[in-house]
Amino acid sequence: MYDFVVVGVGPPGARFARRAAEEGYDVLALEKGTVGEPLACSGHVSTDIWEFTGEGARKELFQNEVYGARFHVGGPNSEAYPFYKREVASNVIDRVGLDRHLADLAREAGADVREEHTVTEVTERRDRVAVVASGPDGTVEFEAKMLAGCDGPRSRVRDELELPQPEELLHGVLAFSEEDDHEDFVDVHLTPPTFFAWRIPRGEAGVEYGLAAPPGVQVNKHFEELIDGYEIDVSHRCSGVIPIGPPDRVTTRRAFLIGDAAAQTKPFTGGGILYGMTSADHAAREIDPDRPTTLAAYERAWRDDLEREQELGRWIRRAYSLPEPVQRIGLGALSGEIGVHMDRPTSLVSLEHLKALLSRP
Ligand SMILES: Cc1cc2nc3c(=O)[nH]c(=O)nc-3n(C[C@H](O)[C@H](O)[C@H](O)COP(=O)(O)OP(=O)(O)OC[C@H]3O[C@@H](n4cnc5c(N)ncnc54)[C@H](O)[C@@H]3O)c2cc1C
Repeated sequence: MYDFVVVGVGPPGARFARRAAEEGYDVLALEKGTVGEPLACSGHVSTDIWEFTGEGARKELFQNEVYGARFHVGGPNSEAYPFYKREVASNVIDRVGLDRHLADLAREAGADVREEHTVTEVTERRDRVAVVASGPDGTVEFEAKMLAGCDGPRSRVRDELELPQPEELLHGVLAFSEEDDHEDFVDVHLTPPTFFAWRIPRGEAGVEYGLAAPPGVQVNKHFEELIDGYEIDVSHRCSGVIPIGPPDRVTTRRAFLIGDAAAQTKPFTGGGILYGMTSADHAAREIDPDRPTTLAAYERAWRDDLEREQELGRWIRRAYSLPEPVQRIGLGALSGEIGVHMDRPTSLVSLEHLKALLSRP
């Protein structure tokens, strides 16, 4: 019997598998396909990402650095309101490569990472958890003292355990054009209802165009308008789901959710790579597979760390739905140099941000 079985090897699953293996636990991690595929993510992350990676990662994964964002109330030709930092605010990285890199770190730490294993059933017993997976050799059953559900926004583990759903699932689409672009600003268009569209320069990896919006919004129509506005040809279209608003509970007696399965994302951007891995660290620190009561400590730890950030993030997102004239006045008044950390909206009230505001001409 394993100490932990991890379902899903995205960034939080790989991170938890690595950390738990480093603690000396026996860890099995099951991934339904090939790690990192298919791509459904921009890989736009704060520079904190490098605290979670191993040797040589930056050289392998880095695509571009970003100092700020130009906000637009309308499409590509509308007025731009720039928000920027003096130092690098974020990096654009190879997301498929990131997942592979993190899975390799988990393997090196001693976790047994198996691809092509889709978990189809989860049964929680008093003293263990059993999972059924279908793999290349047919159906296999594994047992562990505890189970980590890291299987993304439409989590099978969450459903099997009858845990509550996230508040919202947004639909995101992406596509790429091939020209090199090393520019250091991303563009954000507040055109689709309640969320936004974007353009991300990815250095030699081309330019990414994307959009996310709630169900019911005509995502493809808004996306075509974005592409038409930029007058470019795009290829490699892909899409994914972004969960917003964590459920009240992400743990049971012997199982817990991490990452998108637990909606550990930023409500105002949908970004979840760093929140998921941060929560994976909380899980690895707090949870003892022989003591189910430690699951409550994980629930407390990740919420203590991220709940206020998510709450403030929801307020920021409300601004995306304000009437356009109000958005223009707000963006006009607030744009300029900022000192906000992109993963920590509470840094809006930080000394660093205050200094940046006061040093504006
Ligand atoms: C369009 C779009 C753009 C985004 N851009 C950004 C961004 O720029 N920055 C950022 O931080 N975040 C971004 N995100 C969010 C980010 O992709 C997620 O927060 C992150 O991938 C969460 O990781 P995860 O491992 O929890 O989920 P996932 O990445 O979905 O990984 C879940 C893993 O579990 C596996 N799995 C699923 N079911 C099973 C099963 N039954 N058995 C075994 N394995 C299973 C899947 O194959 C997958 O590998 C974006 C999301 C979308 C949709």
